[in-house]
Amino acid sequence: MDRFVDSYRHQGLRKKLVDEVRRKGIEDERVLDAINTLPRHYFMDSSFLEHAYEDKAFPIGQGQTISQPYTVAFQTQLLEVEKNDKILEIGTGSGYQAAVLYLMGAKVFSIERQRELFLKSKEFFRKFKYKITSFYGDGYKGLPVYAPFDKIIVTCGAPFIPEDLLSQLKIGGKMVIPVGDNVQKMLVVEKISENEIKKTEYGDFRFVPMLEDKER
Ligand code: SAH
Repeated sequence: MDRFVDSYRHQGLRKKLVDEVRRKGIEDERVLDAINTLPRHYFMDSSFLEHAYEDKAFPIGQGQTISQPYTVAFQTQLLEVEKNDKILEIGTGSGYQAAVLYLMGAKVFSIERQRELFLKSKEFFRKFKYKITSFYGDGYKGLPVYAPFDKIIVTCGAPFIPEDLLSQLKIGGKMVIPVGDNVQKMLVVEKISENEIKKTEYGDFRFVPMLEDKER
């Protein structure tokens, strides 16, 4: 069976997922539209297809997970994505979060530290003509060559707010980042001026850890 078939059944399940995410409190219609449009099962291995439209995280190989749809929606809503925003994502993983941002009209740059996941998602973006610029590298360093960014989204649990990422954020820009060890606090970090930030906390989440250096 071709896993890249989006049947009526998939579309129906996806509508239910959107209703569920909406019930859990997501209000940004553009985020909900993107989730309704994007076939999440394309981003998962065939053995997990029937789980693609449950509101749960699932393994994508290399010990990593595709984030729970509610978490993707929550982080994306906090980011307040505008069309043509230049956004840096840390932790490409399956590519699902990057694709959501792309469908919302953002210019997306994404970094992944695991080679296998980087290669798989890159091929995937090419196949579906998602114009997402992705890199194999260490998210702690960001992408100085492409900086500054309007927004930064970190999709792994960071032990602290990386200084390089802050410095690559535009003044007036914002970063959404889960910070903590076993459990993370979702933080929105706004860059007020060159050396002034404002942090706001949005509840507890669990992510795979943000690790140092790329894996070789
Ligand atoms: N956004 C992804 C979520 C994947 S899980 C999705 O939608 O599927 C988080 C990812 O962050 C994992 O793939 C992990 O390998 C990656 N990661 C962890 N530390 C990193 C770092 N320092 N730089 C880049 N990626 C990192």
